[in-house]
Amino acid sequence: MITAVNRPAALHIDVAAIRENTVNAKKHLKPGQKLFCVVKANAYGHGAVALAPVMEEAGADGFCVAMLDEGLELRRAQVVKPILVLGLQPAAEAALAAANDISLPVSSLEWLKEAEQVLRKEGLQLKIHLAIDSGMGRIGFSEDEDFKRVNDYLKDNDAFFVEGMFTHFASADSADHAYFDYQVKRFKHLQSLLTVKPKWIHVDNTAASLFEKDIDSDLVRFGIGLYGLNPSSAPGSADLEPAFELKPAMSFVSELTYVKQIHKGYGVGYGSTHIAEGDEWIGTVPVGYADGWIRKFQGFKVKVGDVYCPIVGRVCMDQFMVLLPKEMPAGTKVELISKDPAAPNSLRKAADWLDTIHYEVACLFNDRLARVYD
Ligand code: PLP
Repeated sequence: MITAVNRPAALHIDVAAIRENTVNAKKHLKPGQKLFCVVKANAYGHGAVALAPVMEEAGADGFCVAMLDEGLELRRAQVVKPILVLGLQPAAEAALAAANDISLPVSSLEWLKEAEQVLRKEGLQLKIHLAIDSGMGRIGFSEDEDFKRVNDYLKDNDAFFVEGMFTHFASADSADHAYFDYQVKRFKHLQSLLTVKPKWIHVDNTAASLFEKDIDSDLVRFGIGLYGLNPSSAPGSADLEPAFELKPAMSFVSELTYVKQIHKGYGVGYGSTHIAEGDEWIGTVPVGYADGWIRKFQGFKVKVGDVYCPIVGRVCMDQFMVLLPKEMPAGTKVELISKDPAAPNSLRKAADWLDTIHYEVACLFNDRLARVYD
């Protein structure tokens, strides 16, 4: 996909905010803990290659990505710190990961056996993290016998270096601790069965780290908080207060490319879902669902100049229209998303509008949109 650098629409990323969030995340760690910055999905849409060096300088001890290709992208960008893939990869890719010093998670004995063959052929050793499903219902060992068998298999097996054992919480962002406590108990039980000795035990995501959940670990996988967003913000749920101020880094800025007056009865957009009630000023913004600005944004208010104006008519593939309070010149700035968390068009408010979470909204914005690092 080509990044459109010659149009007046871009995501602006406040590098100082990312730096500050990273420094604060690091300061917040328990003594001896390492900070692994989660930069999967292009750093939650903010730009992994551009921001990894910023995070490194601010104290990152390593990085987490979702898949091998994201790790390889960081290596190509000269990132030398440890990189851990969080999702399962085909065992056939074990050699590629090992050759690039990228650590992979393990969820089954069968995977290990297949990966060992690949590694032995190339004479490589792979760093692995034992994934534990303590209640997320996703990847990882959950049965005692399976976990014991894997420990036996790994004993004195030089095709692998057991770098970690980890789990992921389903509800660390919730004020109700019951399920979190259950997961901790499950994890500790499986930990007690270890006969190999992982270098790092890790369990915390941003929420577990920020909301002071008490569990021992050697490193924190800090994601959404780096981007200044509170993990405790599912639609309809009360936010937990983070231990330090999070500074949102992403804003989305464009401008009016065209302004016209329409008259009573005139339709706007596909399906004419907006019909003018009288004389109306309509502005066109050159952003659409092909950028990730999806049709559900119809009705959401963006800031045109200094006025919040509703999106009228259906969002098109590459453009959308806003109802202006008066004639405004083409070229007027349009702020689709504000980095001010209190603004009506913050990422959080956009997520509320779409009935989702800001994680998802940040990831919607794709590579056609230029990212400008301010
Ligand atoms: N660890 C794992 C395994 C994850 O899947 C994620 C995110 O999805 C994270 C850590 C980071 O979570 P957060 O962005 O909530 O800090």
